[in-house]
Amino acid sequence: MSESESDDAAYDLAELHERAAGRRIVVVGAGIGGLVTALEIAKLGIQVTVIEAAARAGGAIRSAEVAGLPLDLGAESFATRGGHVAKILDELGLSGDIVDPGTGAGGAWIAGIPGVGAAPIPSGGILGIPANPFAEDVRRIIGWRGAWRAYLDRIRPVLTIGHVRSLGELVSSRVGRRVLDRLVAPVTTGVYSSSPDRIDPDLAVPGLNPAITRAGSLTGAVLALSQERKTAPGGAVRGIRGGMGRLVDALVSAIEESGGEVRTSAPVSRIENQDDGSWRVALPGDEAEELVEADGVILATEESSARELLAPHVAELDAEAPAPGPVVTVVTLVVESAALDAKPRGTGVLTVPGSHRAKALTHTTAKWQWVAEQAEPGVHALRVSFGSAAEDPATDGLEDEEAAVLALEEASAMLGVELSRAQLRGHRVERFAQSQPASTIGQAETTRVARDAIRRAPRLGAVGAWLAGTGLAQVVPDAVEEADRVRRAVLFASDD
Ligand SMILES: Cc1cc2nc3c(=O)[nH]c(=O)nc-3n(C[C@H](O)[C@H](O)[C@H](O)COP(=O)(O)OP(=O)(O)OC[C@H]3O[C@@H](n4cnc5c(N)ncnc54)[C@H](O)[C@@H]3O)c2cc1C
Repeated sequence: MSESESDDAAYDLAELHERAAGRRIVVVGAGIGGLVTALEIAKLGIQVTVIEAAARAGGAIRSAEVAGLPLDLGAESFATRGGHVAKILDELGLSGDIVDPGTGAGGAWIAGIPGVGAAPIPSGGILGIPANPFAEDVRRIIGWRGAWRAYLDRIRPVLTIGHVRSLGELVSSRVGRRVLDRLVAPVTTGVYSSSPDRIDPDLAVPGLNPAITRAGSLTGAVLALSQERKTAPGGAVRGIRGGMGRLVDALVSAIEESGGEVRTSAPVSRIENQDDGSWRVALPGDEAEELVEADGVILATEESSARELLAPHVAELDAEAPAPGPVVTVVTLVVESAALDAKPRGTGVLTVPGSHRAKALTHTTAKWQWVAEQAEPGVHALRVSFGSAAEDPATDGLEDEEAAVLALEEASAMLGVELSRAQLRGHRVERFAQSQPASTIGQAETTRVARDAIRRAPRLGAVGAWLAGTGLAQVVPDAVEEADRVRRAVLFASDD
């Protein structure tokens, strides 16, 4: 930058800070989307207030001690794709604590395979679709009959596929039901809480359809894409030593240090638009309702709350309301079991839908070395997940104690290791209402309509997984962009 350019930049910044003085943006919801948005806004000197319904910030990121072990109870990692989360961690001084999952345990397993039981997830596939149906690790799961059926994919003409809209239909028509039921359904249910029939292949695996056309078969396309992915950076997930909650704590501190505030236990009931384009955010109080004045508002809640708050101002949203997203319950268990030292199912287990009451299990002390280091010898942490779009969590209606016993039984069956109530050192039950996964059929169009409509309202924004897609790697860059759009609208509102 030349001297005069840097003078210009300094002048621009000074002018922006002047414009920012006295302006306030309210962010509703303190999940990762809301907190990243708030920090971005606070950087320019705009006063930011984050208002969160729950007693603590973080949303689906929840860390706590269970039986003395610091653990992630919700999101436990982030995808390295795009480098967006690493950039924020760097800004917050946490980059030295980024950790990789352990490799010593091998990968995850699939349990509940008819006639087989449990087996490691085959290597080299995408969303469970194998590149080579005759590979030994694939054949072990689908048998010779399944492998020959899948091989038909290489022989059948590709023209019959066209642009198939459902992953389930694509997989069963090309490689057969065994691949669909035993390999793909456990992955989509575990990862997206959704059956393959509801997943749009174009969104779940970008590039798959063109690769099918190029390769002439589905398995050929998977082979080509998995080779490309091996050489492309960013295909991995990473975690934070001490838990993802450290990211939340660091964001809250940074917002507060920049003059902003994060209010918890404050559910927003309504937002009101004023004649001058500014907003009022309503909080029910014991005696009287509190109204917080704001130049702009950004909603960072999950989809159902966002739609409810937005509907009076954005007419299209009411009509577009989709089915509620899946509810997931995660039961974290800390158990004493020397048998688990051998990491019998690698880093965890996905289940064939219908075979178990739980959909997935993570063997946390096998996956994350930083957790294992803190556990006494023979003590292990497990996370058992229940619930999907097709099925309410089997823990619904149970007291936490009963849910822990059910999770222990399921863990025992999934890991092939006897675990009794006497071995349980501690437990914690957490419930999460999720948005429809972005790769659900029709979801892309629904969110496009929602976004366009929100952008037409003055100084109003929305962020979060329901718009950006599930996962920190999706939510973080979208939040940064939306914060920039709304803060510009607020800063230059008087120039309109
Ligand atoms: C069990 C589980 C495990 C996951 N694991 C991973 C993982 O390992 N890696 C990964 O990248 N992603 C993971 N995800 C997904 C990821 O956690 C989410 O996509 C992301 O955290 C969503 O962030 P968000 O800000 O959009 O929403 P949320 O985190 O849901 O935050 C929304 C916030 O809005 C608040 N709110 C709602 N209504 C109101 C209101 N009226 N007034 C005030 N506040 C309100 C809520 O209380 C909540 O705190 C996981 C999700 C779950 C449920």
